[in-house]
Amino acid sequence: MIFNTLQELWSYSLYCPICKDVCRDIYISADTTQGYQESEKYEKQDHTLKITILKTSIIKINCLTNKYECESGSTPNSIFIDSSCNKCEYSTANSCELCFNTSNNEVSNIAIDSSCFIVNYKKEEFLINPHYTRNVLIIDDLSKQSFPQFEFPLFEFPLFDIDLSNKKKLIHKLKTILTFG
Ligand SMILES: [Zn+2]
Repeated sequence: MIFNTLQELWSYSLYCPICKDVCRDIYISADTTQGYQESEKYEKQDHTLKITILKTSIIKINCLTNKYECESGSTPNSIFIDSSCNKCEYSTANSCELCFNTSNNEVSNIAIDSSCFIVNYKKEEFLINPHYTRNVLIIDDLSKQSFPQFEFPLFEFPLFDIDLSNKKKLIHKLKTILTFG
């Protein structure tokens, strides 16, 4: 799932499709010269995102133009923006590797790699895990087992548009897919 701007990816990450609200928390990590690091902190004011990594590196990104500048320290190779909802049972999104392109000082490869959420209807409960980059959908029938095990075999199917406006219809579709492939 590709976005033109970091702002679009940010908005997508914040929005929980289950709660239908802007209620996901965002976590930023980076691939640096010292390996994979969680960011110490970040600030997002209007369209400016300021990320602190390894205590000394501060990167400022204009989320509308995707242009970045390094305010101090060194620029990491890339960052990952992940989000998770703390209001509902389970709802997450993970970005692709967002790269700092040193030739034009722009963030590139702005895309969501995968998301994951649980859909309930009456006693039915399904884990839905679209992988946009691989174009597949992983489905797990949770009413048949405990919380997502992510154990094999996981059932992968071609990705389709997930319509959450009618959960009854969606769950019927998921059950049909799981039964008949
Ligand atoms: Zn939620």
